[in-house]
Amino acid sequence: MNSKSLSFDKQKLEEVVSKFPTPFHLYDEAAIIANAKHFNRAFSWNEGFKEYFAVKATPNPFLMKILQREGFGSDCSSLPELVLSEKCGITGEEIMFSSNDTPPEEFAKASELGAIINLDDFSHIAFLEQITGIPEIISFRYNPGKTGTSNLYIGNPEEAKYGFTKEQIFEGFKIVRDKGAKRFGLHMFIASNELDGQFFVYTAETLFQLAVELYREIGIRLEFVNMSGGIGIPYHPDQKAVNLEYVGEKIRESYEKYITPDDLHPMKIFMECGRMVTGPYGYLVSKVLHIKNIYKKYVGLDSCMANLMRPALYGAYHHITVMGKENLPADQTYDVTGSLCENNDKFAIDRKLPKIDVGDLIVIHDAGAHGHAMGFNYNGKLRSSELLLKSDGEIIEIRRAETLEDYFATLDFEKLQSFQ
Ligand SMILES: *Cc1c(COP(=O)(O)O)cnc(C)c1O
Repeated sequence: MNSKSLSFDKQKLEEVVSKFPTPFHLYDEAAIIANAKHFNRAFSWNEGFKEYFAVKATPNPFLMKILQREGFGSDCSSLPELVLSEKCGITGEEIMFSSNDTPPEEFAKASELGAIINLDDFSHIAFLEQITGIPEIISFRYNPGKTGTSNLYIGNPEEAKYGFTKEQIFEGFKIVRDKGAKRFGLHMFIASNELDGQFFVYTAETLFQLAVELYREIGIRLEFVNMSGGIGIPYHPDQKAVNLEYVGEKIRESYEKYITPDDLHPMKIFMECGRMVTGPYGYLVSKVLHIKNIYKKYVGLDSCMANLMRPALYGAYHHITVMGKENLPADQTYDVTGSLCENNDKFAIDRKLPKIDVGDLIVIHDAGAHGHAMGFNYNGKLRSSELLLKSDGEIIEIRRAETLEDYFATLDFEKLQSFQ
C-alpha cells in the first residue's frame, strides 16, 4: 500500500483554498473526536482513566475545547500553555503540569489554577515549597535509569535529564507526606513516537510494581499512575498504528496482577499523549509555486520548514498526496522543497510522485502534531493559519496567519529614528 486516505477531495479543497489562501494547516474534527472516543474506550475498564492532551503538540484552543468535550484534560509544561488551558476553561485537576527545569512563576501559576503538579526533580520539592507550599496532591516523575528500557527517540533513561531516581522517589514521598501532602501520583515517560504497544505495557507494569513497593515499604498509596505520552503514529503508509485495545487489555491484566491483590485498587491511570491525539488528523496544505529542473527535479511549495519542521529536523517521513492525481502512476522522482535559505528545507527527498504541475495542491499528511506548533520566524517566514473541517462539513479558521505587523510587533521603529 502506498497511499493514505483523506476526508476531503480535490473539489472540496479547492473550495477551501478559494476562501483561505495556502499554506494552511487543516484539522479534521470528526476524525479527532472518533479517535478520542476510541482512546477512552480502550481504557474504559479503569475507573478514573484520563488522558491529558499534551498541549505542546498542537496548542490551539479550539482543538483543546473539542478534546475537553471528550473528557480530556491538558498536559502543560510552560506558563503560556497553562494560560491557554485557563482560557479554554480547562482548570483544576483537568491540568497536569509536567515540566522540567521549571521557573518559579510557572509553579505559581499551576498552583493558582489548582493543577496537578508533577515534579521532575527531587530538589523541586523544596523549590516548590518555597513558592506555594506543598500541595495536597502531588506527583513525581520516575526515571528508571539502568533498569528501564527505552526507544530510539528518547534514548537510554540513564542519559535522560528527566525524573527522580528510585531512591529519590521513596525519599520524596516521605518528605511531602510529612509536609502535609495527602494524595500521590507517579509518572514515567520513556518512549516517544513508539509504535510497539509493548512499550506502554512495560511502562504500566513498571509503575504498578513501584506502586506496590511504595505501599508496602512506606505506606504510600498512589491515587494515580501517569503513563505519559509517546504513542507513535504510522507516518509511513507501511506502518501500523498502535493497537489501543490490545494495549488497554494487557495493561488491565497487569493491573489485576499487581494492583488488585495488594489492596491498591482503585488506582487511576492517566496518560499525556499528544502526537497520536491530533497528528494523523491534521494536514499541511500548500500550492506548487515552481518546478525546477537541474541535476535533480525540485517541486517548490508556498510553505517551508517553518510550517512543518519534522522532515528537515529528523529526516522524518511525511506522506504526500498530490490532489486530483491520487490514481496516476507515481513515476516521477522529486525533492519537495520550501523557500527557506537552507538546503535541508525539504519535505521529501527523492520521493516518487505523479507528474506535478505549477498550481497543484499538495497535501502533507500527519502534520496535526508538532507541525504548526514547531513553527518559527527564521528567514522572515510568517506562520500560517490553522483551519478546522468541522464535523458538519463547514470550514472555520481557528488561527489566522501571521502578518508583517505581527512579525515587526516586537521592534520599535520610532526608537530607530533617533538611534545614533
Ligand atoms: C511531549 C510530552 C508528552 C507527549 O508526548 P507525545 O509523544 O506527543 O505523546 C507527554 N508528557 C510530557 C511530559 C511531554 O514532554
